[in-house]
Amino acid sequence: MEKGLIHVYTGNGKGKTTAAIGQGIRACGTGNKVYMVQFLKGQDTGELLTLKKLEPDFKVFRFEKTKGFIWNMDETEKRQLKAQVNSAFDFVKNTISTCQCDILILDEIMSVMSNDLISTNCVVDMLKSKPYKMEVILTGRNAPDEIVDIANYVCEINSIKHPYEEGIPARKGIEY
Ligand code: ATP
Ligand code: MG
Repeated sequence: MEKGLIHVYTGNGKGKTTAAIGQGIRACGTGNKVYMVQFLKGQDTGELLTLKKLEPDFKVFRFEKTKGFIWNMDETEKRQLKAQVNSAFDFVKNTISTCQCDILILDEIMSVMSNDLISTNCVVDMLKSKPYKMEVILTGRNAPDEIVDIANYVCEINSIKHPYEEGIPARKGIEY
């Protein structure tokens, strides 16, 4: 297999997580092992049930038990969240150092950095230490410049319209 590259799916429009999963499914179909670590996801989403059927070729990992939005959390809840995110990141570093998969998806890792839960430097160092052949996909709004600099694919999904603006709330099977 040739050199693995780094993808970034960013921007304020819908489609980052689903694009990353779609890419993972394609790669899985050609014999690649896919790991997806979903950060800051407390709520169950449809993809969890679908991807369960693809285990062990496509595995999803979540470490956060804390529910709700970070801006509503008190200090204790924030500390708990930070510890859970750190466990997730330790798992990612271990996955990288022991080369556990061919494709590694880090869903919503951009929010982890923008909320100062893990520093951008730590994520950059992790990416620089990835196995030669491993493909890594990072998603989330507001990708920092340092990540954009070292990525090979950078896609920005911009929202032109979203039904939320019409007052249509998140729908099961579409948003989650
Ligand atoms: P998806 O999970 O559908 O691929 P995403 O990963 O690009 O979307 P996130 O930024 O992770 O989207 O946000 C999670 C959910 O918030 C999405 O399912 C989505 O529909 C909703 N969302 C995305 N963009 C907007 C927007 N501009 N306004 C309101 N809600 C949005
Ligand atoms: Mg997403």
